[in-house]
Amino acid sequence: MVCCCITEKFQLIYGRSPAWAARAPGRIEFIGNHTDYNGGPVIGAAINRYVSVAIAPRADGVWNFYSDFTGHLATLPAHCISRQEGELSWLNYPLGVLDAFPAFGFKRPEGFDLLTMSDLPAGSGLSSSAALELATALAFLSLTGQSIERARLVQLARHAENQFVGVPCGILDQGVSAFGKVNHLVWIDCLLQTFATVPLPADVHFWIFNTHTKHALIDGMYAERHHECMQAAHALDVPLLVHATPAQVEAARPGLSASQFKRARHVVEEIARVEQCIDALRGGDLVTTGRLLTASHRSSQCLFENSTTELDFLVDQLTRNPSVYGARLSGGGFGGSVMALTQSSFKESDALRIQQSYEVQFDVEPEGFHLLTANGAAPI
Ligand code: ADP
Ligand code: MG
Repeated sequence: MVCCCITEKFQLIYGRSPAWAARAPGRIEFIGNHTDYNGGPVIGAAINRYVSVAIAPRADGVWNFYSDFTGHLATLPAHCISRQEGELSWLNYPLGVLDAFPAFGFKRPEGFDLLTMSDLPAGSGLSSSAALELATALAFLSLTGQSIERARLVQLARHAENQFVGVPCGILDQGVSAFGKVNHLVWIDCLLQTFATVPLPADVHFWIFNTHTKHALIDGMYAERHHECMQAAHALDVPLLVHATPAQVEAARPGLSASQFKRARHVVEEIARVEQCIDALRGGDLVTTGRLLTASHRSSQCLFENSTTELDFLVDQLTRNPSVYGARLSGGGFGGSVMALTQSSFKESDALRIQQSYEVQFDVEPEGFHLLTANGAAPI
């Protein structure tokens, strides 16, 4: 059954009921910063903030798109797929999915009315783009009576983002949004492209603090980090940094530039931290888990150099609180959000105090919210 809130909105926009609906969660990056494209492992969690999509068929060869994000109806002739700019640029995500359909062996819908609604902040490092791709893909598949395996859905959505939207994201975003499970983390081996879930010990909590900042040169900085990692792998004579050990990186130091050495050291040590984190979680050892999370942040801050003054400030404030196990930037960095893993004794009042001190320091109020883990993308 389609949830009533999106049904009501759909009625309001299109004057009839939707036939199908699906939703996909946002995600946090739990640990594994910039390990994905180096072939390493990464751990994420799907969160209880979603992009929802409702859809109904049309027989007149029209594709209608409406998002509560923009509040505008966009109408395209069916199968007319071209890149959109400006206010319509959000259409590139569903259009990228539709563009990928034939290559993945699926037929496209002939006509539809589509509505998307969301309580997931966009552009904050919580992967609203992947959630939008997955939810629209499921809606298009339901509409056309087709089905897909979860791992294939991940590939299709990532293909849309890489090839059509033009963002070279790794597999984390779509993988966690698709494979999320309540009270579990999603552990991805980015080399083998395999997914597993790891139970979260009881009574832990996630908090997110969104700085609402994004570095102006973010795309160039990503590309530069990617390039430095590949150059370091080349100098180490391995295909990807996942194949190198910390000892090999240290031994190769004279042949690496200062920044190549720092990036490589971060990656190989971060990969080791992800593995240690899995062991700590399996043993229910939250103190060690938290220590690894904060160590990951310090490595991003000092070695990978993708943190910012705002993110560091939040991590410093959070880790001073005894109810916090650990805190780190979550996602690509250069702005975005900080994630904290806490005991239940960390309350709204603690979050507010941190937000207030941030506001005093930076003259902007960050958004802080408590999150629960969630199940992956599915019809609703
Ligand atoms: P993130 O994935 O971290 O949220 P991105 O920059 O990758 O950040 O993706 C954000 C973009 O995704 C938005 O600018 C918008 O184009 C699109 N988007 C996200 N949520 C929605 C939504 N509910 N409706 C329409 N577009 C959305
Ligand atoms: Mg994104």
